[in-house]
Amino acid sequence: MVRKSRVEARSTIGSNPERNRSHNRRVVLDVVRQLGPVGRMEISRHAHLSTQAVSNIVEDLVSDGLLIKTGRLRAGRGLPPLQFAVNPNGGMTAGIEVAADHISTLLVDIGGRVRAQRTLSIPKNDPDTVLPAIKMEIEAAQAQLKPPVPQLLGIGVVMPGPFDVEGMTSVGPTTLSGWLDFDAVAHIGRMLGASITLENDATAAAVGERLHGAAKDLRSFCLIYFGHGLGLGIVIDGRPFRGANGNAGELGHVLVEKGGRLCSCGQHGCLEAYASFHALAERLAAAGIRNPRYADIERLHGEKHPVVEAWIQEAAGYLAPQIAMLENLFDPEAVIIGGALPPRLLEDLTQAMQPLPLSVARRKKRNEARLIHGRTGQLTAALGAAAFPLLETMTPRLDTAHANRREPANEEISLAG
Ligand SMILES: [Zn+2]
Repeated sequence: MVRKSRVEARSTIGSNPERNRSHNRRVVLDVVRQLGPVGRMEISRHAHLSTQAVSNIVEDLVSDGLLIKTGRLRAGRGLPPLQFAVNPNGGMTAGIEVAADHISTLLVDIGGRVRAQRTLSIPKNDPDTVLPAIKMEIEAAQAQLKPPVPQLLGIGVVMPGPFDVEGMTSVGPTTLSGWLDFDAVAHIGRMLGASITLENDATAAAVGERLHGAAKDLRSFCLIYFGHGLGLGIVIDGRPFRGANGNAGELGHVLVEKGGRLCSCGQHGCLEAYASFHALAERLAAAGIRNPRYADIERLHGEKHPVVEAWIQEAAGYLAPQIAMLENLFDPEAVIIGGALPPRLLEDLTQAMQPLPLSVARRKKRNEARLIHGRTGQLTAALGAAAFPLLETMTPRLDTAHANRREPANEEISLAG
């Protein structure tokens, strides 16, 4: 559980002219990213800005290296207009997933391409271990790039939730230890000298699938996310739904068994105590296989290990009614299931959930299956994390009533183009 100071900080950002300027920059960048190569007249038409304003902004963006001139497009008489495109080497964002036992780091360019990726196992997950590891991994990822990319436009960090909940223990195998009352945004920002966006892993994973994976064509969906625990990302009308405190979607701590197995949050009978990587690891530990990693689970599943087989049946039994519940609550186009489980295991788990209980999702004309698999695998949360600063930099908030609040996580995800 991590203190999120960014929301308070945001409400006081910048004066009005400054805010408008950066907003207009984002609008122009987004138009060029989606339509480019494109001329100033067309940018002005799509951005609803004067050609003079667009000319000034484009000039700034070119000198900042974020846009490049791509020559003139021949059209009709006279001097054809100059064309502009985003510079794929103009800047990167970093996406970092801090999980219970590893850190995943991605560098993504402003065209949305993954340019470097790394995963580091960590022996402990307290801030003293994690902070220097993040710095090291970002530097190592930057060193992998040829040619080096000068600008780090922002860093998205994702961690398992929930954030700031009184009475739920933050010490447990499916959460991170030592982060309670630790201002992660301020500390990481100071260490790296960059702006930091903090998000919960499941929400970031949903954004990752929307931009790069199974949800590219979906505007409303739920993503059940297997980290070490179990989370839920909710996207409604193209926007992540975060709730009042960023804690929406704590599916792992929904009670499914009265007086059931003890969960790391302190309650008995949470879904996560049955259907999670951790629950599977506990079962394996009881059978003498301690601290299994992803590759171990993959191997054991391939060998049809009886403990893994039994876990699939139990987890599916608890998960299936939750799929129907999500459908009844949110009426999504589909429920996606993904994260840190090997693809074959995920397939068997999904199979074991069939037939799904009746819900509002059962219709004659469905375009999608009710339950589909994520496509971005273990990196899905880090992919989403890398997109948050990009959404902040590039995607305009069209809802002017909220123009004073800058919470990128609630902005419409339009990077998929
Ligand atoms: Zn719990």
